[in-house]
Amino acid sequence: MSLCRLIYCSQAIPELTYADLKDIMEKSEKNNTPVGITGMLCYGNSMFLQILEGDRKHVSRTYSRIANDKRHFNTELIDFSEVESRIFGEWSMKVVQLGAYSPEKVRNINMKYSTSTALDPVSMNAKQCLNFMIELRSLLN
Ligand code: FAD
Repeated sequence: MSLCRLIYCSQAIPELTYADLKDIMEKSEKNNTPVGITGMLCYGNSMFLQILEGDRKHVSRTYSRIANDKRHFNTELIDFSEVESRIFGEWSMKVVQLGAYSPEKVRNINMKYSTSTALDPVSMNAKQCLNFMIELRSLLN
């Protein structure tokens, strides 16, 4: 067993609905909990940025399943590496919709880690993505 963290981003289909997000949330909880996967999924500006943490085999299989999902496209792997410890260990998958939070605070975090005022993970490196998610988490408390 090797503890890993995977970071990827993708583009949501234009027809994505709230029901889709709810379904993704429910499926994530159902599937991730038994295999010990934890993480965070951020949705904003029609983009997804997700972090998966857990055993390499399970993270790998889960990512393969996710990458085939028709509710998003242009999936781009940003990082997949061994880690000493989890950062998002408290959630089987926390789904964060940026639209639900203060636009000013969200804009500031985007500006801090990218050149854009809106979520633009394609232009961010792995470290920026990770720090973005960690800082985003502080908005939830
Ligand atoms: P089933 O309902 O049996 O799904 C069977 C197949 O149907 C799968 O191929 C699935 O992709 C597809 N499917 C199901 N519902 C829909 C729908 N409404 N529209 C289109 N296709 C559909 N899953 C996890 O387990 N963990 C995660 O962390 C996770 N994160 C995700 C993040 C994003 C951005 C997206 C888009 C999906 C994510 N999913 C996640 C869902 C994942 O892609 C699969 O849909 C899910 O894992 C399938 O679980 P299942 O086989 O139990 O469900």
